[in-house]
Amino acid sequence: MDGYAGKVAIIDLTNKAYEIKDLNPQWAKLFVGGAALGARYLYDLMPAHTPVFAPESVVGFVSGPTNLTKTFLGGRYTVVSKSPVTGGFNDASAGGNLGPFMRKAGFDAVFVKGISEKPVYILLDDGKIEIRDAQALWGKTVSEADALIKEELGDSKVSTALIGPGGEHLSNMAGVITDCHRAAARGGSGAVMGSKKLKGLVCRGNQIVPLKDDAGVAAINKEWNDHAKGRGAVPVGKFKTTGTTSDYDSSVYLADAGIKNWAGAPEDLTEEQIKNLTGAVMDPKYKYGKLGCHACPVQCGAKYHIKNDKYDIKTSRPEYESLGAFGSMLLNGDSDCANICNWYCNEYGYDTLSLGGTLAWLMECYENGLFTIEELDGIDLKWGNTEAILAMVKKICDYEGIGIPLNGASRAAAQHFGRGFEYLTTASGIEIPMHGARYNPGLARTFQYDPTPGRHVKGGLGVPYGHQPPEVKYNYEDTGERDKAGIESWEFFNISGFCNFSGFLLAPGVHYRYMEAIGGYSFKPEDWTNLALRSFTIRDAFNKREGLRRKDFDISPRNVGKPPLEKGPLAGITVDNEKLGDNFYAAMGWDIETGMPSKEFLENIGGLECVIEDLYPEGKLL
Ligand code: SF4
Repeated sequence: MDGYAGKVAIIDLTNKAYEIKDLNPQWAKLFVGGAALGARYLYDLMPAHTPVFAPESVVGFVSGPTNLTKTFLGGRYTVVSKSPVTGGFNDASAGGNLGPFMRKAGFDAVFVKGISEKPVYILLDDGKIEIRDAQALWGKTVSEADALIKEELGDSKVSTALIGPGGEHLSNMAGVITDCHRAAARGGSGAVMGSKKLKGLVCRGNQIVPLKDDAGVAAINKEWNDHAKGRGAVPVGKFKTTGTTSDYDSSVYLADAGIKNWAGAPEDLTEEQIKNLTGAVMDPKYKYGKLGCHACPVQCGAKYHIKNDKYDIKTSRPEYESLGAFGSMLLNGDSDCANICNWYCNEYGYDTLSLGGTLAWLMECYENGLFTIEELDGIDLKWGNTEAILAMVKKICDYEGIGIPLNGASRAAAQHFGRGFEYLTTASGIEIPMHGARYNPGLARTFQYDPTPGRHVKGGLGVPYGHQPPEVKYNYEDTGERDKAGIESWEFFNISGFCNFSGFLLAPGVHYRYMEAIGGYSFKPEDWTNLALRSFTIRDAFNKREGLRRKDFDISPRNVGKPPLEKGPLAGITVDNEKLGDNFYAAMGWDIETGMPSKEFLENIGGLECVIEDLYPEGKLL
């Protein structure tokens, strides 16, 4: 089948057994890959109401059709599971080499259930599967485990997706770290791996993916130079040099980034503190090489060397999101500190956004007297105290003292201690990323009601809408159709394997041409819309089958300006998140009160018979 390796592995760690199945061609056509194909398999393999850490719980690694096709910026894969935070569906994607290498090994996807008695890792090796002993890797950091695996296999070229101690401790903040520097971080899928005693997935092989039109892909790649020198010159130039850090300062000045746990304003930081965390200032101090993902001519990452009195570490340059989480959110303008926090997350396998958000929550609690210094193990966690920030990050990573309850992330920690609920800044328990809903009001709907809450990389009115004039972006009439239309591009990226930045780093329109050359897709625009809606719906259906309804999805009042800020560029702004939700569900033709999809909608989209069967048994809504 053009565009696919054609095989899926289903692995049971309890019995150390596996099956290699043909990829379901019908599902590949209907759900394409990544998050949607992963959701379809999960829907099938995992019974409703399965506890997240039960043996029947499934974690999947799913490539996209662009992986290993030489398509530029087409190297992303997705991890899917139930989320230990939201209790619903989770998908988180990452670049690096893993998706393409999974296909080199001969597989489009791997789904893992069961619980191993002892730690293991899975090796996909040129069409074969091995479940290998990982006892010597348990407790190791990601780079230590990566090095030991490469030594054991005598192969430094394999691609790895590993958990660190965070996943082993079942932290709600545990992510999956790819090739030591790219993270499928959000929603706690690393904890699901940890619960299975699964240290990681390792891939290698020499297989190829058949394409409909190899020459077509090569021809589109050739056109890229024109785009990079022409219309795309500014973003390509920025991403090639300072990557996502280019916009850190402008986002802080706009208060788009979180400042002081989303309660602050740019004037809470000095100009120097803000500049310190930009790539332009950090690169000359730390950069010693480039980093990036498979088949990407941009290579937007960088290798950093941080050396001071206490640390001498080689790591990757933090992304914008991580800089916000360990910078402006904590009123920290010290670049060594922000970089070391980022390094801890990569090594111990944590989501930078959730860890930074949890620290910000605790800082605000402490500053307001909700915790004593003794309760924080002697750490004086005041705003901007860099030593205290690093000490607390270490406590969490070492799973020690106050760090143990903090491994649950901010909402679970508030529940554990019975305090600090008023300072939470989450969507259904997921810490909000560094593009806020008060600046980008459309994100209020996405954060609250996407099937995977709290993500800026999911569809809707999105980040660009935030740059509209206030009279446009804060007008809540008639947003539904535009919000619904905005799902398309994001769902497309998340199922095809394209990097999200390809929206501006590739020329407009080439994505669909690539897909045509890869798999012979000859869809009209409305067919892509259908695919996107089906992708959204199958992810959402997992939640609805769990019994989750609209009322179960929340966003912290502060993040939608309730009450509004009193200073800064967003002073006085309140976002009507529920109206945005009403408009969205109305445009979808779904029930506004419950968020349930109508039977007519499901039938019109097609390919969702399993959902109709579960939500409309005997023709009537559950
Ligand atoms: S632009 Fe950056 S994140 Fe995207 S594929 Fe290239 S290297 Fe990876």
